[in-house]
Amino acid sequence: MWTLNKTSYKEQDILVNESLFALGNGYLGVRGCFEEQSSPSIRGTYINGFYDTTPLSYSEKLYGFPDDSERQVNVIEAQTVEIYLDGEKVSLTIDNVLDFEQTLDLKQGISIRKYTYLTTHQKKATLCFKRLVSFKYEYLFLMDINIEYDGFIEMKSFLEGDLYTYADETDPRVGSHKERVLNIEDMGCDDHYQWIEARTLNSDLTIKTVSTYQTSVPVTSKIIDSNVISMMSGMNKLQTTKYTAYLSSLKDYNNSNLKAVESFSFEEHMRFQKSYLDLFWDASDIEILGDEALQQGIRFNLFQLLQSVGKDGKTNIGAKGLTGEGYEGHTFWDTEIYILPCLLMSQPELSKKLLMYRYDQLEESRERARVLGHKRGVKFPWRTITGKESSSYFPAGTAQYHINGDVSYSIIQYYLMTDDLEFMKDYGFEILVETSLLWLEIGHFYKESFRIDAVTGPDEYSCVVNNNYYTNLIAKYNMHWTYMMKDILENYNPEAYKQLIEKIKISEDDFDNFRKAEEQMYLPYDETLNINLQDDHFLEKKLWDFDNTPKEKYPLLLHFHPLTIYRHQVLKQADTVLAHLLLEEYVHESIRRDSFHYYEQLTTHDSSLSSCIYGMMASKLGEYKHAVDYFNETIFLDLKNTHKNTKDGLHMANLGGSILAILKGFAGFRITIDGVELAPWIPDEWESVKFKIRVKTSWIEVRIAKDIQITLLEGDTLSVSVYGDSYELENSLRIRRQYD
Ligand code: BGC
Repeated sequence: MWTLNKTSYKEQDILVNESLFALGNGYLGVRGCFEEQSSPSIRGTYINGFYDTTPLSYSEKLYGFPDDSERQVNVIEAQTVEIYLDGEKVSLTIDNVLDFEQTLDLKQGISIRKYTYLTTHQKKATLCFKRLVSFKYEYLFLMDINIEYDGFIEMKSFLEGDLYTYADETDPRVGSHKERVLNIEDMGCDDHYQWIEARTLNSDLTIKTVSTYQTSVPVTSKIIDSNVISMMSGMNKLQTTKYTAYLSSLKDYNNSNLKAVESFSFEEHMRFQKSYLDLFWDASDIEILGDEALQQGIRFNLFQLLQSVGKDGKTNIGAKGLTGEGYEGHTFWDTEIYILPCLLMSQPELSKKLLMYRYDQLEESRERARVLGHKRGVKFPWRTITGKESSSYFPAGTAQYHINGDVSYSIIQYYLMTDDLEFMKDYGFEILVETSLLWLEIGHFYKESFRIDAVTGPDEYSCVVNNNYYTNLIAKYNMHWTYMMKDILENYNPEAYKQLIEKIKISEDDFDNFRKAEEQMYLPYDETLNINLQDDHFLEKKLWDFDNTPKEKYPLLLHFHPLTIYRHQVLKQADTVLAHLLLEEYVHESIRRDSFHYYEQLTTHDSSLSSCIYGMMASKLGEYKHAVDYFNETIFLDLKNTHKNTKDGLHMANLGGSILAILKGFAGFRITIDGVELAPWIPDEWESVKFKIRVKTSWIEVRIAKDIQITLLEGDTLSVSVYGDSYELENSLRIRRQYD
């Protein structure tokens, strides 16, 4: 199943479908809006990294609160058209749209929408809209429109520059101010091109959007207000392909870029698109036999991640990618813990690009650490586009110091998967050192143990706590690997290591301190319950009254003051359970099991980053029924709009989490310093699941059915442990599947 299909026109689904049918390539993203119907609609076109700043207003601004926030800009709109049939404007209703079909083709990388339209005179027209956002020419958005009608057809096609950001005052997960963020500096049209050039109000970025048409009829264009409107008409049939180039000052693009692509037809661009995607699917497809809906879901999720993730080493992926304005386009820890690990399985080069994004922000993160009072080290921003902290609510923002550990965790995972010591030497080690230095700054030794106070862990329903288990454990791992990597690099390239040490000004004493802090790291544990404590005082708080919390009061963050929530044992998302999943080597299985059960009953999963983690842990613990339920929730979260806010964009972390649920949950894939581990099982209903993994220089294929077959497709022999038994993988290995 390689498509997503909708076969009926429902006005109430339009906004959600605009997110689901969004097209993108990591640079440019266009929501899947209906060209000919601009209401209801959240029109949106985004360029990764293209942002503006707006001042943050506080009535009580304390020291170190950020002055401004960055936000992704809704750039010039090129998708809108108006269509007239014998002078009557096409305007969709449930009664005049017949045989509606909308398809997102995951193999071809295009979307198609067609239907029969009934005019008020009961005459029929067929309309077909195809679109493509090119992977090969990242600035290019193509629309192909085909109308057949026994009469006179007219079309007005727009380039629109007067745009606002999307806002919702009642939901903190989207921006609260509707703002105009672009100033139009130039507009024009000639016989062949139409264009608008605009500049952001504060960040001084420019965007030039240029369109041209390949069409069977003449096109005339004129400027009205802030729009360039192109008109075309014909009898019986009208076909046009609109080429739009988004030339932003983030890249060196100019008019010649559009010239270079306009001579290729829509079909030729489709061929380029397919070649790109063939390579992607060859490496990254996950084939599930036995459940069509899940197969479709997993491919949709993979495809949407690919469409949103920045591929140039300068940009990243926002919480909603390029599919909507939720979370204002900010990048969070979602990247390192949910998205990068999933790309790392088959697209290591792409993962490295995401790590480079963090490396490039070291200077800004260093300055931020100083503002926060830390003499050494860096503090990565909780939410950002270019590296500046954009969080105005520090308890659930800046206080999440675990982001430093999350970035380090993904660097270590990258190293273990690739053996890329050049990367570690040039970039990775510096990040490990700088983040480790910060742990020494915020932590302290107390009665033979190293403690970290006043931080917030992943769970945003308990804020500013002492000794958050997740933070302490990931800090321990971070510091452990920093001094391990010291030895590895010293050995690998002594001369380069010496220079590096001088550059980053780190001494032997610092390494000794990392070791000491790591060894003495305090990890809160309750003996009676046999669980790790989310933080020092978690168990002392009142239990949340779930029985008397009606369904409509979720998510709690929209209905209760934060302090009410903070006073209770209630979780928004996985916290201790996530720590146990990422770093299981540090904790006994019985503690993982008891912690899972304890926290599960307290977790609302109000965050979309939660269910996938509980599902993976259920897999690990052999609680298969549970794992399947969580998996179903995870995989369809956007496709079924279960969090009711898919209209604001797709939940990128959850998309990644759903893929990890197969690779790390069902297949039990892990990589540690000792090598690759697998412990596969699959739900009874599935016939098989098959995927590839790139480990070091090798490609392996894993197929889980009644038996498990692991094949070395390419590269060196690899040591693999399956259900705890070690094998040298030279060609193909077949093992009986176990469940326990
Ligand atoms: C979650 C965070 C997450 C953010 C962006 C919040 O609701 O609590 O963990 O980083 O959404 O996805």
